[in-house]
Amino acid sequence: MTMRRIPAEALEAMARATLKALGSNDDEADAVAAHLVGANLAGHDSHGVGMLPDYVRLVRDGLAVPNQELAVLADLPGLVHCDAKRGLGQRMARDALHLGAARAREAGACVVALKNSSHVGRIGHYVEALAAEGFASVHFVNVADHRALQAPYACGDARLGTNPFAAGLPAEGAPVVLDMATSAIAYGKARVARNRGDAVPEGALIDAAGRPTRDPVPLVDLQEGAIRAFGGHKGSGLAIVCELLGAALTGGLTLQPDHPRQGGIVNSMLSVVIRAAALGDPAALGHEAAAVRSWIKASPPAAGFDEVLVPGEPEARVRAERRRDGVPLDPKSLADILDAARDAGADGESLRALTES
Ligand code: NAD
Repeated sequence: MTMRRIPAEALEAMARATLKALGSNDDEADAVAAHLVGANLAGHDSHGVGMLPDYVRLVRDGLAVPNQELAVLADLPGLVHCDAKRGLGQRMARDALHLGAARAREAGACVVALKNSSHVGRIGHYVEALAAEGFASVHFVNVADHRALQAPYACGDARLGTNPFAAGLPAEGAPVVLDMATSAIAYGKARVARNRGDAVPEGALIDAAGRPTRDPVPLVDLQEGAIRAFGGHKGSGLAIVCELLGAALTGGLTLQPDHPRQGGIVNSMLSVVIRAAALGDPAALGHEAAAVRSWIKASPPAAGFDEVLVPGEPEARVRAERRRDGVPLDPKSLADILDAARDAGADGESLRALTES
């Protein structure tokens, strides 16, 4: 399949124009567009500009709300509780975590409970932003308001969303950033595989009868089958904890069937933000984290592996390559994004770099 390589700046201009056409003010359009393209640059196309067709639909259907104001329900010394009221998630999460970081600067740490946000995107983005300001952080996130996609351990059908977990900290050189769906693959990766005509990795999906399959088409096109939880009963347990801490505890939407599902993408998130300097000399802590990373990376690769990587390293490598060579987009994803941008009413100039062959 022929992939087009598109410069990040052109993608960002298109995303910004699409969001502004949907009604976002400049700050929101800039924040969401930068986040989406940042996900593409990190190699996570599942959470990049390919989400725009969904965002256009969500805003049109009233399931995501541009320029929403974050409602602060509680502001205690060590905890802030916010209701995003379906605001565009990348801005809602940014603002809630800004508030948490301000509190953690004084108190040493702060819990941020954010409920009912529209899609907050790639969670690693927040870990990186916090690490750049000297904070370690942990994030438990659920996904609700649409059909379940993830089959917990031993389940023959889907009961949860792909419920991401992320954690990380500043370290000398580059932060360590673990950021992952608790499903064997993120749903967007099944969508990308379907658009590219690829099979998904072994063990990632089950079909409508609960049998293993590598074909993403039934899941994406027919809404059949499920993505398995990663890591057997342990990964499945983490997915369940994300549902409970991320949403049940924050008062957000869970996927248990008492709640209506309107076809939105609603994330709720429980985050813990820790000021590293409250625990010691940040330079020494960063040095220790880097030493642990080096120690692990110095292991001789096991049979079948060329090298040892640590969380955050694959993203950093892809980012360097894509900043230089552009973001690869397959024809179907590109066509879908352009249709959505035009449908939203984005100005033609912002799309020019994407429509030129
Ligand atoms: P992934 O499997 O590509 O990577 C998961 C983690 O493993 C990353 O921290 C990565 O750095 C690390 N990693 C990857 N390869 C490695 C290797 N060879 N050695 C060591 N570490 C390695 O990620 P994923 O599970 O497909 O998640 C993709 C994205 O989807 C994430 O950014 C996540 O936040 C996002 N997501 C968001 C939502 C939402 O609703 N907002 C839902 C699900 C997932």
